Amino acid sequence: MIKLLKEALEYLRQGTSDDYKVNRMRPPGAVDERRFMALCIRCNRCLEVCPYHSIVRAGFGTKIGTPYVYSESKGCYLCMACCRLCPTGALDRALNNPEHVRMGKAKIDPRICYSHLFLEHDVLPDESLTKIGALCNTCYNVCPLKDAAILLKDNLYPVVTDACVGCGICVERCPTRPTRAIHVIPTGMGRVDEAGFYFRKAQSHFEKSRSSGGQQADQTLSGEKLLDQKFKIDASGKQPTFEFLMKSLHL
Ligand code: SF4
Ligand code: SF4
Ligand code: SF4
Repeated sequence: MIKLLKEALEYLRQGTSDDYKVNRMRPPGAVDERRFMALCIRCNRCLEVCPYHSIVRAGFGTKIGTPYVYSESKGCYLCMACCRLCPTGALDRALNNPEHVRMGKAKIDPRICYSHLFLEHDVLPDESLTKIGALCNTCYNVCPLKDAAILLKDNLYPVVTDACVGCGICVERCPTRPTRAIHVIPTGMGRVDEAGFYFRKAQSHFEKSRSSGGQQADQTLSGEKLLDQKFKIDASGKQPTFEFLMKSLHL
C-alpha cells in the first residue's frame, strides 16, 4: 500500500505537461535521448543493480517507463554499476570514470540558497538559522567531486563549475523547502524537443529511430537483432513480455 502511494506520488510529480523538467536525469552513461528511447528495453537491470535505489521508472507503476534518476528523492552515487549491466548499450558500458559522467549540470538559485542569501545580501532566511546556521554549504560538503565540480567561493559560498557531472547528490541533500536551492539541468531529458522522459511519446521515438537506424553506433543493436536480444533477457527471474515495445513497433 505504501509502495503504491509512493508510486502515485511520483507519477503526479512527473507531471503531464511537456514542460522542461529539472532534477530528472537519465542514469550515467545514457546515450543521446533519441537513441536511448530506441535502445532501452525497460529490462529493469539498472534499477535492480543500483545499490542506492537511485533509479526509478517513468509512468505509473514499475513496469512501463524508462529509467531515470529523480535527484530530489535520491541522487546517483556514481558507482557505475548500472552502466556495466545495461544489455543493449542504452547506457555506455565502457564508462567507468565518474568524472566523465554527464547526466546534467547543477545550478544554484542564489535567491533561496542559504549561504548566498546570508553572504551576498546579508539576509537571514526564515527559520534557516535555527535549523542549519547561515553558512549551509551542504551541497559543497556532499559533492563527490568537491573542489572540482563545486567550489567554495571566497571559502564561503558554493559555485558550480563545468566539471559538474549532474549526479544530483547536492539536490538530494539541499535543505531548502519547498524548493531546492540547487537543481540539476538534465542532459537530453525532459526537454520538449527530445521528450524521452515521457513514455507516452515512445512510439514516435521508436519510429524516428527506425527511420534513422543506420546512424546507430556499431556496438548498439537495432531491428531484428535488437528484438532477438530482448527476448533472451531475463531481468526478474521470469521472461519479460515486452508487450509495450512490441505494440510501439507495430509488430
Ligand atoms: S551509477 Fe550507481 S548509484 Fe548511480 S544510478 Fe547507476 S547504479 Fe545507481
Ligand atoms: S545545500 Fe542548498 S542552501 Fe545549502 S549552500 Fe547548497 S544550494 Fe545553498
Ligand atoms: S555539484 Fe557535485 S553533487 Fe552536485 S550535481 Fe554536480 S557533481 Fe553532483
